[in-house]
Amino acid sequence: MLRFCKNCGLLVPHDARSCPQCGAPVPPAACTAPQQGPVQPLYDTPDRDEDAAVTAMSQSATTAALILFAIPLVGLVLSLVWSFGGTRNPARQRLARAYLIRTAVVAVAFAVFLLVGALVLSAVLHAGLTYYYANPYFW
Ligand SMILES: [Zn+2]
Repeated sequence: MLRFCKNCGLLVPHDARSCPQCGAPVPPAACTAPQQGPVQPLYDTPDRDEDAAVTAMSQSATTAALILFAIPLVGLVLSLVWSFGGTRNPARQRLARAYLIRTAVVAVAFAVFLLVGALVLSAVLHAGLTYYYANPYFW
C-alpha cells in the first residue's frame, strides 16, 4: 500500500507514522486500507432453520423407531413420550412429533370416513324401514 505525505507529497515508508522529510503525521496504514469490517455475504443468507442444527438419526434408528410406532397403542404412547421430552435426542423427538401429526391426520380422516359411512348406513336403514312400514305385508 503506497502512501504519500499529504504535506509534501513524499512517498512514505510503509510502517512510518510520520513523514521522514517534513515530519508531518501520516495516518496509519490501516486507515488507508479498505475497511476490514465483518464480511457481508453478497448472496442471501440461508434460512434460519432450527432443524439444520439437529443431527439426523441413523438409518437403523429411524427404522426401529418407525417399527415401534407401528405397534398399536405402544407406538402411540411412545410417540407421545418422545414428543414431550422423553428423549434427549432432538432428532428422535422431531420424528416422534412428525409421527404424532401424521397420526392425528389419519385419525381425522378415519373419523370423517366413519361419519360418512354411518350416515349412509343410517339413510339406507331408514329407507328400508320406511319401505317396510309402507308395505307391512310385503314379507
Ligand atoms: Zn512530508
